Amino acid sequence: MSAAYLDALDAGRGVLVGGEWRRGGAGLFDVEDPATREVVAQVADGDRADATAAVEAADAAFASWRHVAPRERSEILRRAFDLMHRDVDELAALICAENGKSLTDAKGEVVYAAEFFRWFAEEAVRPGGDYGSSPAGGTRTVVTHRPVGVAALITPWNFPAAMATRKIAPALAAGCTVVLKPAAETPLTALAVARLLVEAGVPEGVVNVVPSTDAAGVAETWLADRRVRKVSFTGSTRVGSILLKQAADRIVNASMELGGNAPFVVTEDADLDAAVAGAMIAKFRGGGQACTAANRFFVHADVAEEFVARFGAAVEALTVGPSSTGAEIGPLISGKAVAELDRVVAEAVEAGARVAHRAEVPETKGYFYAPTVLADVQPGSAILEHELFGPVAPVVTWRDDAELLAMVNDTEMGLAAYVFAGELQRAMKLGEAIDAGMVGVNRGLVSDPSAPFGGLKQSGLGREGAREGLAEFQETQYLSIAW
Ligand code: ADP
Repeated sequence: MSAAYLDALDAGRGVLVGGEWRRGGAGLFDVEDPATREVVAQVADGDRADATAAVEAADAAFASWRHVAPRERSEILRRAFDLMHRDVDELAALICAENGKSLTDAKGEVVYAAEFFRWFAEEAVRPGGDYGSSPAGGTRTVVTHRPVGVAALITPWNFPAAMATRKIAPALAAGCTVVLKPAAETPLTALAVARLLVEAGVPEGVVNVVPSTDAAGVAETWLADRRVRKVSFTGSTRVGSILLKQAADRIVNASMELGGNAPFVVTEDADLDAAVAGAMIAKFRGGGQACTAANRFFVHADVAEEFVARFGAAVEALTVGPSSTGAEIGPLISGKAVAELDRVVAEAVEAGARVAHRAEVPETKGYFYAPTVLADVQPGSAILEHELFGPVAPVVTWRDDAELLAMVNDTEMGLAAYVFAGELQRAMKLGEAIDAGMVGVNRGLVSDPSAPFGGLKQSGLGREGAREGLAEFQETQYLSIAW
């Protein structure tokens, strides 16, 4: 990334409150490149006082922002879309530097992230509403939607741009103002997006950002503040549950995008080339560090050997290394993540799984983990319960649909699923029978700004993107009129 772009971020003053970039009350923290373990930048470390100041600014700005004409809000979002495209290379380089993903994945993320600004720029001007009468006929009912209020947004490190824009765009389109806490691993991209929003014309106080190493302190402060009316969180189920408990105290409107444990199903009549291509995307985008990542492979016994051979060859051919080398797979986010994945894989091997295929990993200080295909994984194994969040693909075989569906749905998670089958109707029937909010049918990617992203069971509450994404930041109100 160009040093000038990073300098212009002025991350040491990365707390954005009421249009002013300031130092953090807790000093500075380091952001590390997981591929090299070098410090990329020092970022302002916001504390509880910064968190409160951000809410104050957001609350003050809400009074006018909610009344700004939808067209005007829309055009700001549309400009933000254009600016992200103008800066696509710089933003991708920032993502590479702090997250480690490959340059191709990083560019893909920037384009995907920008799309939320365009989508919600378009939705902002289609407010909708209703007009009706009561059954007895004596009234008229006018239904409108209003912004829920100041929204607290908390985002993870795996998609540093997209997880921020997927929340900011609908919030602003709805007329909400926001306070955002990006993950401490990857605050730089969020700061860059916030700068672009300011450049796009977002008024002071509408978007506030508090990078912080005290995630719990900032979140607690926000959820305890009467002025905060909404929390939108993407991250682990564990933290989502903590936030829901805090939200319960004040009955705060909550949207949760939590963990996944996506099954990837291959039937006996599936096009295996398509299945392998889909598996490579579903498993290895972002190095497997996605909540939608295929986590459990269920391949029909008749084609399992062939599938594992072809998939394994593709996995062995993957290049692993820092994004600067053009590698396809970057590092995991931390040494802790590598140790945890090592432990889970070792346990699976102990239980009878076989390391069938493995890519090569460079000898570096980075947090690399070799892309791995595990064959002969037994149904019910611990590894199938675990959200791997890394480039490991455990393969289980099956024979009949009922047995398959029992295994697939035997999890508390229900975010994404993938089905590859020769006959579309069979694929759709299987898809409908899987307890997941999103099912990729003969494709390995479900993320799409125009589709409602979200999960069932412990994978979350609410939806992002699509029409539904806007509704998450709105309250319904009706006026009942004597007639
Ligand atoms: P991940 O496993 O992806 O890091 P986390 O749920 O730990 O998922 O993190 C997602 C986001 O939640 C990050 O912004 C992180 O800083 C924040 N976070 C972590 N712990 C807490 C907490 N106790 N309260 C509120 N936010 C938290």
